[in-house]
Formats: sequence, C-alpha cells, structure tokens
Amino acid sequence: MVFGPGRAGVIDVPAPLPAPDEVVVAVERVGLCGTDAEFYTGDMAYLRTGDATYPMRLGHEWAGRIVALGARVEPVWAGRRVTGDTMLGCQQCSRCRAGKQHVCADRAEVGVRRGRPGALAEQLAVPVWSLQELPDEVDATKGALVEPGANSWRAVDASGVGAGSRLVVIGPGTIGLLCAMLARARGASVVVVGINDASLEFAKSLGFGVARATAGLGTGVFDAAIDATNAASTPSRAVELVQPGGRVVFIGLSAEPSLIDSRALVLADLTAVGILSGSPALAATVSAYRDALVDPSLLVSATVGLAEAEAVLAGRRPAPDRGPKIHVDPRR
Ligand SMILES: [Zn+2]
Ligand SMILES: [Zn+2]
Repeated sequence: MVFGPGRAGVIDVPAPLPAPDEVVVAVERVGLCGTDAEFYTGDMAYLRTGDATYPMRLGHEWAGRIVALGARVEPVWAGRRVTGDTMLGCQQCSRCRAGKQHVCADRAEVGVRRGRPGALAEQLAVPVWSLQELPDEVDATKGALVEPGANSWRAVDASGVGAGSRLVVIGPGTIGLLCAMLARARGASVVVVGINDASLEFAKSLGFGVARATAGLGTGVFDAAIDATNAASTPSRAVELVQPGGRVVFIGLSAEPSLIDSRALVLADLTAVGILSGSPALAATVSAYRDALVDPSLLVSATVGLAEAEAVLAGRRPAPDRGPKIHVDPRR
C-alpha cells in the first residue's frame, strides 16, 4: 500500500469478497513499472487530476489462479490461470460498446485509477469479463508480462513495420524492448536508442543494434519510430528520424509537455499514433507468448517479495545489467 509520496508498506487487509460478476485471484506474479514508481514518488498525473488518491494499492501487470467465484460467474472459471485487463470500462457507454473500453470516460483501472485496488497483494478481486485465460505455455512470469506486451503489440501494429522495414525504438525499458522483440519477430530490423550504458548493453545482448542518443542517427532514415521514453524531447526527435510517408508511434509519457511541430508531420506525410493501453491486444499477446514468437521472460532481472516492493519503487535495481523488469511474488 502506498500511503503518500515516498511512503509505502505491507499491511493486513480483509480478504476480498467477489461481487456477483467478479472472481478472486490468488496472485502469483506482479510486474512493477514506471507508472507504479511515479505513484510512489507522487509524480503521476492522475494524482493531480483527482483520478487517483492515496492510499492506493498498486499492481496492474499480474498473473494468478482463480480461487473464488462471484454468484453470477460460470463454475468453469474455478481454478483457471489468468491475467486481466487493467482498464475496467463502464460497459454501457458508446465507447465501451464499440470495443474501446480502455478509453471509457468512467473507467476504473486496476491499481491505477478511481480507487480500484491493484495486484500487489495475496488476493485480488476482478470482473470475470476482464480476464484472459493463460495456457500452460504461458507461466506466471510471462502472464504478468501480457499487459506491457499488449501495449507494445499495439505500438508495433501502429508502426506498420514488417519484413525488411527499419524501425527505431527510443527507450530501452520493458515497453521499448518488447516493441523491439515483437517488431523483429515480424521481420523488421530494429535499432534501440538509450542514454544508459547498462540498458544499451542489455539491448545489445538481445541482438539489437543500439545507439547512444539519437544525435548520430541522422534524419529520415527509418520507416517508423516508436517513442517509449519519459523524455519531453524525444517525440519531436522521433518525427525527424522517420522518412517521408512513414509512421511515428508515441507510447511514452513525459512529466512536461512534449511538443511536436505539426509542419514536420504535414510536409513529410507522416502518420502519428498515440497508444494508451494494451487492452485490445491482450488476447493476441497471450497467443504470441504461447507460440514463443518472443520470450518476454528475458526482460525480468529479479523477482522479490512484497516486503521488498517499496525499495524497488524507490528506484533500487537488484541487477540493472540483466533486464529492466522486476517482478514481485506475493507468496514469498
Ligand atoms: Zn505498467
Ligand atoms: Zn464506458
């Protein structure tokens, strides 16, 4: 539980009871990400807009096993291994009915928005309609990487890359590296850009071309660019790196406004896309992991217990040269 900026701890809470359309999941793995760290430091924008307030229980990248069913849930769900959507739309409005519940104005977000408790706990209650069943090939580690993987899947889709395409991914974090892996699986050649030596070394160990900062890359040399950083300056740089007719995808969020000159888009006939969520691609990502299209587990450098989660949120990296993602196993 995060009580306020820089203050968190493990506390005893009552076991969750499922609402009629919910199940209770025994959580086996939870990923910590940049959004969680921003909630811990107090920088996350939702804290300013009132969409989130302390105290809050984080955790929106998770996998586990169903241990209790709400009154209206089909008995066949009992015991299933699952992960679930972060976005919980109202299911009534026109956006939800059009398959875009991830942009529902009234949505809750598990561990993120409107007080919906997250997965950093032994047990989690979630609506059954938000779940994805995990096949045997997708273990708990991979299952907790479905949510970031689905974000990356949509970013790669939006980049339009395929066999022979040249893609630049700015930002060698989990999202950026999953983008690079998924794009390579589609036949693209990928350059990963970062500013941190350890993360560039790690990207290189995965077989990607790497570049330190974008300065040496020239202009108009890639078919597509994906910005997966939290830097305000990289989105406009991403636009410059793409050749006329190309595509630029923005999935990172900076704390300050990150400005783009729309003339650069018009004059080069570029397509620019923003990606908020992985919701529409969760099922595709489960299939990609099942079929071993990519192995997301390579990105996990350490798995810790609940008691160590606060140190990770505060920035401790047990093994920065072994990958960007840290997982929590609440059973430890
Ligand atoms: Zn996340
Ligand atoms: Zn809605």
